[in-house]
Amino acid sequence: MGTTAGGNQDLARFMAGLVKRNPGETEFTQAVQEVAETVLPFQLAHPEYAKAQILQRMTEPDRIVSFRVTWQDDQGNIRANRAWRVQFNNSIGPYKGGLRFHASVNQSILKFLGFEQTFKNALTTLPMGGAKGGANFNPKGKSDDEVMRFCQSMMIELQRHIGEDTDVPAGDIGVGAREISFLFGQYKRLANRFAGVMTGKGLSFGGSHVRTEATGYGCIYFTQNMLARLNESLEGKTCVVSGAGNVALYTVEKLLHLGAKPVTMSDSSGTIFDKNGIDEEKLAYLKHLKLVTRGRMSEYAEKYDCEYLAKKAPWCVPCDAAFPSATQNELDVDDARELLKNGCKVVAEGANMPCTRDATNAFLDAKIAYAPGKASNAGGVSVSGLEQSQNSVRASWSREEVEAKLERIMSKIHDQCVEMGEDDEGHVDYVRGANLAAFKKVGGAMLAYGAV
Ligand code: GLU
Repeated sequence: MGTTAGGNQDLARFMAGLVKRNPGETEFTQAVQEVAETVLPFQLAHPEYAKAQILQRMTEPDRIVSFRVTWQDDQGNIRANRAWRVQFNNSIGPYKGGLRFHASVNQSILKFLGFEQTFKNALTTLPMGGAKGGANFNPKGKSDDEVMRFCQSMMIELQRHIGEDTDVPAGDIGVGAREISFLFGQYKRLANRFAGVMTGKGLSFGGSHVRTEATGYGCIYFTQNMLARLNESLEGKTCVVSGAGNVALYTVEKLLHLGAKPVTMSDSSGTIFDKNGIDEEKLAYLKHLKLVTRGRMSEYAEKYDCEYLAKKAPWCVPCDAAFPSATQNELDVDDARELLKNGCKVVAEGANMPCTRDATNAFLDAKIAYAPGKASNAGGVSVSGLEQSQNSVRASWSREEVEAKLERIMSKIHDQCVEMGEDDEGHVDYVRGANLAAFKKVGGAMLAYGAV
């Protein structure tokens, strides 16, 4: 269907228009291209979608709010940053998605994240639209007070645009428990209301059990589902993980629960390669290092006397399964080839779009079990959705309850991908499956609304 000359021309024309309308937005273009490759042929084969221009409409955000955040550093200097909220699509529920604080943040990155979030959230089976936001604020090296002042200033503007039935932000890179608390505390003060307008809150003020662990745990539940279809399991498998945030830490934790052997983690300075495996005790040290003292990975290498690959990612380490859990485009086609050459049979994305297009295609061509982030990392936003439900009914579910729900949601996401992505030989293209299942859901709602 998608390989006809006519289909390719339509794709080329569609992408040329998109690039022209969004000049210089390479990440956004990349995310749309991946979706359009599978979805445009589907749309052309379904005249009702084509006539209503569903894909064209889905690639244009509902709105983007861009604003200045002015704050004062510890030396008394006035500083200014740029912040955004990209409200992409609310066809199936209030806008939902994280906030990212990182020096690299720009409109293209937030648009790609908001676009992907719309698809991801649709797969969770929960009623959530897609959004993303953030600022080009670099939290590295900032004091707690500086972070607080930045968050409070940002919320003065953000509060106008969010609400429990409108848009519910959460965390992402650079935005964790500390930042969510500062942001939510300021919202509560400005609006004089205690409502579920943010997720990832502390347990004593409306947060949900398992939210911190959810993305990492969810990624491994998804992987379990992929492997179970192939009559395999994670037990005894050597796994490489990139990243050092919540996603990576709790991916490693769940791998340990299941008897796998995680051997790497990484930050922007390098990779620790622990041949003996990162065990529970070492993981406890890493959690403290990354979440409390905010130190560097190299400190682990010194403490446990393991190999440290300075300035390198983990993809050169031989493994059975790889979990890119750091950031976009962290794994390129050379890395993909090296992983495949070394016998890697499973790749599940914990981060958003960590593989370049060529890397993704290398995994798809090799027909290994490859899960795109919008399916495999949807556990985080799923538990955010469960946090919203708990806030709405002013209830607090137990850890066991939330974890069981998360496990069920990940398996439902997996099954939707299989339903839409399985070929005649029984091989599943999870990229195709995820894109089509989400597109049908969001697009179906847009069709029902008519021309809005
Ligand atoms: N930032 C996370 C993601 O990429 C979580 C979003 C949320 O919980 O709203 O899905």
